[in-house]
Amino acid sequence: MRVLLVEDDGLLGDGLQTGLSQAGFTVDWVREGRLALHALLSETFDAAIIDLGLPDGDGTEVIRAYRDRGGTVPVLVLTARGDIGNKLTLLDGGADDYLVKPADIREVAARLRVLLRRDEGRRVPVLRYGDIEVDPTAYAVRVGDQSVDLTQSEFKILHALIRSPGTVLSRERLEEVVYGWDGEVDSNAIQVHLHNVRRKIGADVIRTIRGVGYVIGRQEGHG
Ligand code: CA
Repeated sequence: MRVLLVEDDGLLGDGLQTGLSQAGFTVDWVREGRLALHALLSETFDAAIIDLGLPDGDGTEVIRAYRDRGGTVPVLVLTARGDIGNKLTLLDGGADDYLVKPADIREVAARLRVLLRRDEGRRVPVLRYGDIEVDPTAYAVRVGDQSVDLTQSEFKILHALIRSPGTVLSRERLEEVVYGWDGEVDSNAIQVHLHNVRRKIGADVIRTIRGVGYVIGRQEGHG
């Protein structure tokens, strides 16, 4: 699950990024509203955590601008205690939930999971391709009757591929999915993960399109 964290406080942001990464999320962190809006509109996230007091404006403006452009990713707001009076404005403005700072990292992770589950409920709860099932909420994978243990990185790769069958994802795209923007990535890390995923779910499910990337199912535009 890839989360955009929008927080200008270095200490808080660092704590959230570390804690949420340990809880299994891929976290990309920006410190300004302008960058947040750009990231939300140009990249794929499963959720966003947005601080209200940003150096270049109010987080609510970011949320409103994002919703106005049709953005649907669930948003969890972090707010200072003094701002709690405007929670209705927040929810009306497109936020899905809010927490008062400083928030316990376990509670942030739990609220995120609720938002993701609600969001998955609106879409397809369990993703299927052939006899493969991926349950994003439970982090579970099955092949036929067999449940399969994937590492977090392997799960993120399979989830990204299976949720858009026919779409080829480049190695760089998969690196973003697994590591976010600033992960230090070995050039063959994705290939190693893919090798393991294939070993666990079957070698033929994920196809390599040489020089382009990886795909589950028939490639769009090629019959
Ligand atoms: Ca702030």
